[in-house]
Amino acid sequence: REQTYVMVKPDGVQRGLVGEIISRFERKGFRLAGLKMFQCPKDLAKKHYEELQEKPFFPKLVKYITSGPVVCMAWEGPGVVASARKLIGSTNPLQAEPGTIRGDLAVAVGRNVIHGSDSVANGEREIGLWFGEAELC
Ligand code: ATP
Ligand code: MG
Repeated sequence: REQTYVMVKPDGVQRGLVGEIISRFERKGFRLAGLKMFQCPKDLAKKHYEELQEKPFFPKLVKYITSGPVVCMAWEGPGVVASARKLIGSTNPLQAEPGTIRGDLAVAVGRNVIHGSDSVANGEREIGLWFGEAELC
């Protein structure tokens, strides 16, 4: 059962894009296995993005992710990790193709609306980080 961790970031929640984003994953045909709204603590944001902790933008990234509630999702299906990345589009929204979530709905890399796990292993790691066993169906 392949699963990926997808998260609407605070800007996406604040702009009212949650429904649009969930719809795109539902219409694609993936199964929603977990869903919650959550104010992310600093420690969790740091752990989630620990691979990036040496990057110059890391402090700003942690501030961004903790700046308001996020919507956390676990999506399931064959090939869901790579497919979610395609639906989401490139990290920099100005390079993201039209038709992708970032390509259609964002302009700034520091406000790029959504997260998606970049590998099957990271999908498992991140779902374990953000969800308790009892929150997944
Ligand atoms: P995410 O992990 O959030 O799905 P990604 O996998 O496309 O995004 P990463 O390289 O993992 O990209 O970067 C994580 C996040 O850090 C980006 O989504 C973006 O919000 C932020 N980020 C990446 N590069 C920059 C940058 N040069 N300046 C500011 N923020 C950045
Ligand atoms: Mg990433």
